Amino acid sequence: MVENTLSSARSTTPAAPLTRETIRRVPKVLLHDHLDGGLRPQTIVELSAEIGHELPADGAEALADWFAESADSGSLVRYLETFAHTVAVMQTAPAITRIARECVTDLAEDGVVYAEIRYAPELMIEQGLTPDQVVAAVQAGFEEGMALAAEAGTPIVARQLLTAMRHQAMSREIAELAVSWRDRGVTGFDIAGAEAGFPPTRHLDAFEYLRRENAHFTIHAGEAFGLPSIWEALQWCGADRLGHGVRIIDDITVGDDGSVTLGRLASYVRDKRIPLEMCPSSNVQTGAAPSIAEHPIGLLADLRFRVTVNTDNRLMSRTSMTEEMWQLHTQLDFGLDRLEWLTTNAMKSAFTHYDKRYALITDVIKPGYAALR
Ligand SMILES: [Zn+2]
Repeated sequence: MVENTLSSARSTTPAAPLTRETIRRVPKVLLHDHLDGGLRPQTIVELSAEIGHELPADGAEALADWFAESADSGSLVRYLETFAHTVAVMQTAPAITRIARECVTDLAEDGVVYAEIRYAPELMIEQGLTPDQVVAAVQAGFEEGMALAAEAGTPIVARQLLTAMRHQAMSREIAELAVSWRDRGVTGFDIAGAEAGFPPTRHLDAFEYLRRENAHFTIHAGEAFGLPSIWEALQWCGADRLGHGVRIIDDITVGDDGSVTLGRLASYVRDKRIPLEMCPSSNVQTGAAPSIAEHPIGLLADLRFRVTVNTDNRLMSRTSMTEEMWQLHTQLDFGLDRLEWLTTNAMKSAFTHYDKRYALITDVIKPGYAALR
């Protein structure tokens, strides 16, 4: 057990009040964003018309409302159902390339300077593409997007994470695909999908293979499910990062006098600097946190866990990195110092090479925040 005292000051920035526009301009790093959860509503409308896919609402605006309302139901399973309509329009190489390109330019416009964007190739092979062709189509879109963003004066580095679905049996194949693309734009691997009944240990073969290949992976754990899923992801599977990890809070006790006691697992996560890919809006929508104001990210940041802030599904949560940071600022009093700390945490935790991470921290993130003080 470890005793702690909470630091009293959340924010040490006395400067001018932080505006949404200031937050949009600061450099941001995004580690947890789903390609099939971030499509522009208008793009879904256009691609659906091309292939005759029937949508649950007419027009981009009504469709955006439908996604947000469906995702607001409080159930992870219901939330995951919305993806049927995005994945339906991601079955051809030109469509996938367009969606990947738009994802990168949207993030760049939002001030994101480095992003790892994930998706499951196995969901995009219904009409004959091979998983390898899916990765190639995404990479083509990312490269177009990065070129457009650089031209627009908002450079961004976008990398792929390949996801395997936890209820399927393709994880080893997808892990091999990630390794075969690792010098061509893919930086890591992930497993996602409903946690209940599908523990990550079902995919040990994939994780052991990745470790032997010196490759990186993250696991969605501790979102809908509690401490056992975090423990399995770390101690059985060897995850480098945790997707969400919100339930680590269950291993932390705060006394009436403000004293804090960490259990063994929470101590391990903090001591080892295991990055937590937290997605406040999404966590509230799936019921993993009661509200942004009561989201564990505040306490975990006070306790100096390796916390990062992310979007998860920009379409379903109607959010962006700017919006997530704005919520943390208005609901939890996160100031510029803490937003920079979150950003540096994320950059340190990225799967790209150390020299690239170091260069982005020194040349982009630090001067970017310093310029606003
Ligand atoms: Zn996710």
